[in-house]
Formats: sequence, structure tokens, C-alpha cells
Amino acid sequence: MSPVVQGPVRVRFAPSPTGYLHVGGARTAIYNDLLRQAVGGAFVLRIEDTDRERSDEAMTRQIQEGLAWVGVPWDEGPFLQSDRLERHRTVAEELLAAGLAYQDFRTPAELAELRERAHAEGATLKSLAPEPSEEEVERRLAAGDPHVLRFRMPEETIRFRDLVRGEVEFAPETQEDLVILRSDGSPTYHLSVVCDDVDMEITHVVRGEDHLSNTPKHVALFRALGADVPAFAHLPLILGQDKKRLSKRTGAASVEEFREAGILPQALYNYLALLGWSPEDDREILSREEMIAEFSLGRIGSSASVFDPDKLSWTNAQYMSSLPLEELLEHLRPFLPGEGLEGVDDEERLREAVELHRSRARDLRELAGQIRIYFADVIEPDEALSRKYLTKDPELAEHLEILADRYEEAETFDLESIEEILRGLADEVGVKAGALIHPTRMALTGVKAGPSLFDLVAVMGREATVRHLRRYAEYVGDLS
Ligand code: GLU
Repeated sequence: MSPVVQGPVRVRFAPSPTGYLHVGGARTAIYNDLLRQAVGGAFVLRIEDTDRERSDEAMTRQIQEGLAWVGVPWDEGPFLQSDRLERHRTVAEELLAAGLAYQDFRTPAELAELRERAHAEGATLKSLAPEPSEEEVERRLAAGDPHVLRFRMPEETIRFRDLVRGEVEFAPETQEDLVILRSDGSPTYHLSVVCDDVDMEITHVVRGEDHLSNTPKHVALFRALGADVPAFAHLPLILGQDKKRLSKRTGAASVEEFREAGILPQALYNYLALLGWSPEDDREILSREEMIAEFSLGRIGSSASVFDPDKLSWTNAQYMSSLPLEELLEHLRPFLPGEGLEGVDDEERLREAVELHRSRARDLRELAGQIRIYFADVIEPDEALSRKYLTKDPELAEHLEILADRYEEAETFDLESIEEILRGLADEVGVKAGALIHPTRMALTGVKAGPSLFDLVAVMGREATVRHLRRYAEYVGDLS
């Protein structure tokens, strides 16, 4: 496919550290990553922490951890936007000196009233309230009156080609002159973002659609600064199951939450990458390399995508079964203490248990829960099921004792002998194999479903199997 974008590019991910890295932000980062990896160039991480009250250093760290965990590397940064405020102020002053911005002394109350009038009369703010004259500016500056600095928006339609949405245009009457310095001298988001994009030589701005209405302001500022206007790609929103914008309230989760829920980073990356983009052959599981090879901004749809937790869970299950064992184990380890498995030192058994259960668990948490049995001192059986087994074989306790003896004494304890011994005993005492298989599973796991019993016994090992069987035989004996 011919790429929409020729590299090398310089892209950026520019989160505001006011909360955890959310799925929407993570997807934006992933698309920037895919583009940068696909065509070459650099990925800049810029933390937009100028809103001091809402920004938090811990969040800045969390965001970086979230990105690193999900598998989005950055080439440059993290840069803190707050370190660059002097630069932004200087640029604002330069715009003023060049006659492209002006001081505005109107109070918020005056502005609100003007806006209301403009709305009622179908007029623009500008037509109702011209810029202050030079004399007025001088007089009020001398009086020390508070003011903001406004950038004069051009009187013409602003057009740009969005790589996702196509041609976009904004008529001049929709654009108010733009505040670039607040009355306390602090630069606004619009000024900071454009200054940084210029200084960091960003060529492609890939961000959420919620920024589309900001883009005419940014385009005008880029032009005023004599800079090249970068290409834009605005990504459609991600909606919740209720078809409303995904937000914390509607159950949007942060990358951190998915990590804690036992989702694999590879699965989250894969799922989010395909939320709004798909490769030509509609494959749903792709390695990062495959995604990079196939990625094209031109294939991103312009309609919103719905975040589907079941699909994520399905994707995760695919990775749970297919990841190299070593990698899976590394991701699993943090979940072991939660199941009381922090002291597990039998690596061999751990690996075998993980191999046996990995395709039966949807996430790491579930997997850790499933393999707990292989390291448990005692297994608690289910009474109702145990009584049911007794109706199939009233001499169950005795038979389980014999099975334990035979397992204990067996010359070899491998898959074949484990099965042979059990089936042989069933034949000998005249019960169906199932009448021993189900209780043995109960003895070893406490539940009725799981992997093949013989596999399970083999992984459990001789010592634990015999111990659990004897304890369960006693339990069943007491029931009858
Ligand atoms: N800091 C902005 C945000 O977190 C992003 C700005 C941008 O991408 O241009 O929404």
C-alpha cells in the first residue's frame, strides 16, 4: 500500500498529567508510535503540565510508566511544558511587537455581556467591540490595569487537510481572537502547544478529535510564527458501551487498571491499535512488527469506535496462549503474591502449571488463581459434589486410598502410568473410570472443571497427589 505519510516524521504525544493514562490517550500514543515506527523519525514525549493546580508529579510518572508498560517507547523527552513558560511568554511578546497580538483590558463580565449581545444579534464579538486604540492602551497600561494578550485571528477561512477527516475548514466568524497570555502573564494552552510543536519541529500532530476545533487557532498561530504548519490527524473518539463518550464515569479504565486486572500489555496494545484502524486483511491478532508494517493513517476510519471489554478479554486470551512462556511468566509473577504464591521456589512445577493452564485463563489474575492448587497445602472439597460421587461409588473412600497407595508405590509417575493405574483400578473394582476421575479431580483442585485430569496429576506431582487423595478419602469416608 502506498503510504499516506512519507518519513521521516517527528511526532509527539502530549498528555496533560491530570490523571492516569487512559485508554483514549494510550491509543493516541500507539498511533503516534505506529506512524513513527512505520516511516521512521522521532517520537517526542511532552508533558503538558502548565495547569499547575490540576497537574501532579506522581501522574507524570504514572503516565510514563503506563506508556513504557504498554510498549510505546519515546525517542526524546519527557519534556515538561512548565519548563518552557519563559519561552512561551517571549513568543507572545514577539507576536505583540510584530503587531499580530494586542492588549485586551475587558473584564470577564464585560466579555460575557458582549458575547450575549453578539449571540442575540447574530453578530461577531469583533464587530461589536473593536480593538482598543493606541492611546487607550497607553493610558490603561500606565494605570496598571489588568489585561490579557490576544492574538488576532485572520479574517479568512482557515483550511487544512486532516489525514483522517479530509478537508476541514473554519469560517472566520467562528473564530474569536485568541487569548495567548492571561492577565497573570501565564501563557495559554494554545500558545504553549504551538510554540512547543514549532520548537520541537513536529511534522505530524496525531491527537484526539476533541482537539479538532482548536486546530484553526493553531494553524493561524503556526503561520503567524512563520513556521511550517504540521500535518494533522484527528482520531475519532472512543465511546463506551452506552455509546457516550468514554469517560471515567462510564467505566473507562486507565492503562494502570488494565494492568492490575491482569491484561497483558501486548494484548492492550493490539486491541487499542485496532480500535479505529484495521489492516487490509482484517486480521485481529498482529504482532507489533506486523502492525508497523501494515499501519496507515489513511485506514483510520472517521467514525467513533466503541470500547468493548469482551473483545479486549478475547484478545488477551489469545496472547495468554501464544506468548513465549518466559515472557508470560514475567508478566505473571506480580500476580503470584495475591494468591499466596510469593514463596514458590519450584520453578519447574510453576512452568508446567502455567503451560497447562495458560489457554484456560482469560487474564493473569485468573491464571494465578488457577495454578494456586499446585502449591497449596490443603484443598477444600465441595460437599454437594462429593456426596454425588459417593452415590456413583459407595466405596469411594476405600478406592481413593488404594489409588493413593498405588500412586505412592508406582515405579514411574508419568502421564502414561498415571492414567494406567487409575483406569486399571477402576476396572479391578468394577466402577466406571469417571467414578474415580471426578473425585480425584475434586481431591486435587476442589472444583469440578479444569484441564485433563492426568495432565493435572502429572503437574501436581506424586507427593502432593498422594497427600490430597488421602485427605480427601478421609473426608469422603466421614461423609458416608
Ligand atoms: N495536552 C493535551 C491533552 O492532553 C493534548 C494537546 C495536543 O495533543 O495537542 O489533551
